[in-house]
Amino acid sequence: MGSPPPGTLYVVGTPIGHLEDITLRALSVLGAVDLIAAEDTRTTGRMLARHGIATPRTSYHEHNETRRTPELLQRLKGGASIALVSNAGTPGISDPGYRLVAAAAEAGLRVVPIPGPSAAAAALSVSGLPTDAFLFLGFLSKKAGKRRSQIDALASDGRTVILYESPRRIRPLIAELRAVLGDRRAVLAREMTKVFEEFLRGRLSAIEAALADRDEIKGECTLILAGPEDPCLEPREELPQAIRRALAAGGGSLSELARELARRYGLPRQTVYAEAMRIKTEREPTTD
Ligand code: SAM
Repeated sequence: MGSPPPGTLYVVGTPIGHLEDITLRALSVLGAVDLIAAEDTRTTGRMLARHGIATPRTSYHEHNETRRTPELLQRLKGGASIALVSNAGTPGISDPGYRLVAAAAEAGLRVVPIPGPSAAAAALSVSGLPTDAFLFLGFLSKKAGKRRSQIDALASDGRTVILYESPRRIRPLIAELRAVLGDRRAVLAREMTKVFEEFLRGRLSAIEAALADRDEIKGECTLILAGPEDPCLEPREELPQAIRRALAAGGGSLSELARELARRYGLPRQTVYAEAMRIKTEREPTTD
C-alpha cells in the first residue's frame, strides 16, 4: 500500500488467537497509516512486532474513548490516517470503536473496513446450527433482572443466538438458559484458533454435564444457542412417533396436527400431512 488517503479511518480486524489470522491487507494498512489507535497498545505491539510493523500507537479503550474520540477526530480532520484495532477480532463488536466510527462518519470522513476475524462469525460458522438468521447479543447483562428479561425475550425468537461470556460465568449462564428456555441445542466454542481449542456440542444439559467435573473453566468462550424453531431440535426420524402420540392424544384436526408438527420439525406441511394420513390409516384400517 502507498500512502493511505488522508483523513481516513480504517477499522481493522486482528486475530482472535492464532497470530497468523490476519489479512495481507490488514498488515499493509497497519504498516502504512500515521497512527494506530489500539485498545491495549502492548497487546497490539506484540502482534505488530511479529510482523515487523513499527507504526506509532495510541490507546483507545472503554475508559478513555469519550475523551479520545474528539482528539482522534481532530487528527483525522487534519489529514492523518488512523487504523483502529481492538485486542482481538473486529473493533466495535463487543469492543470499543462505535463512538469513533460514528463521529468520523458524522464528520463526513472516510471510514473503511479491513475485514478480519470475529469470534461470533467463527463460532457460528462451525456450529452446525442454522445460520440463515441469527441474533448477536454479545455479553448479556451482569444484572440478574435485566439478564432474565434478555433471556425471556429469546423464548419466542426463532433465530440462532450468539453470546459471549467469561469463563467464570459460562456455567451459570448455561444453567440459566436451560431453566428459562428449555434444553435447546447449543455449541460452546472455547479458545478458538488457540492451542486448547474446543467445541462442545449438544443439548445445554449435555454441555453442562461435560463442564460439571472440571475444577475450573479457562479461556475465552462463545456460546451459540439454537432458536426454538431449529429443525435440529426435533430430529426428523422422531416424526412418526410424534404423529402417533398426537393422534393418540386426539384433539385437533389432521391439518392442525400437520401444521404444528411441520413448524416443530422444520418440514413442509404437506409432507407431515401425508405421513400423518399414512399413520392414521395404519392405525384405523378400513374394513370392507
Ligand atoms: N471484538 C471481538 C470479536 O470480534 O470477536 C470480541 C471482543 S469481546 C471483548 C471478547 C469475547 O469474545 C470473549 O470474552 C469471548 O466471549 C469471545 N472470544 C474472543 N476470542 C475468542 C476465542 N478465541 N474463542 C472463543 N471466544 C472468543
